[in-house]
Amino acid sequence: MATKSKPQNQCDGCTLCCKVPYVSELKKPVNTLCVHCQLNVGCKIYKARPQSCRDYTCLYITDNLSKDLKPNECHVVFEKLKNAPVFLALIDPDFPDSLDNPVVTNQIFKLLREHFSIVTTVGQGSTKNIILAEDTTKEEVWRHITIAYKLINF
Ligand code: SF4
Ligand code: SF4
Repeated sequence: MATKSKPQNQCDGCTLCCKVPYVSELKKPVNTLCVHCQLNVGCKIYKARPQSCRDYTCLYITDNLSKDLKPNECHVVFEKLKNAPVFLALIDPDFPDSLDNPVVTNQIFKLLREHFSIVTTVGQGSTKNIILAEDTTKEEVWRHITIAYKLINF
């Protein structure tokens, strides 16, 4: 008998990644809704969106996470750094305690077991916490971040 596969996650209704990260091409500050975003709908310039928006990878979509980890539900965007064993956990500043949510904590433990380090942040200039994977150093994680962001506006 054929088994039903889980439907692929979609953004439907979530626009958190158009709010929390910095977008260099647009000089969009962190924690500010992009001028091109229609809140809870999506990008109004989707076909012409900047490269960093195209490169962005949201774990909820790529790994088809459970619905309770949808960013606009759990208030955390898990973003994978390109070519590095590091995730950013960008917390919606309107919900600063979101790391206390057990589904978020469990996801962080899962990433650690998969040997990813996690950098949590609630915005530019805020304290960033690094949760280190086994056998990794802070310096190594910062080196990856420096390469990915050239430490500009992170
Ligand atoms: S954070 Fe993820 S689910 Fe939400 S709009 Fe962005 S890509 Fe879609
Ligand atoms: S350009 Fe579009 S995809 Fe990029 S942050 Fe703005 S609304 Fe989001």
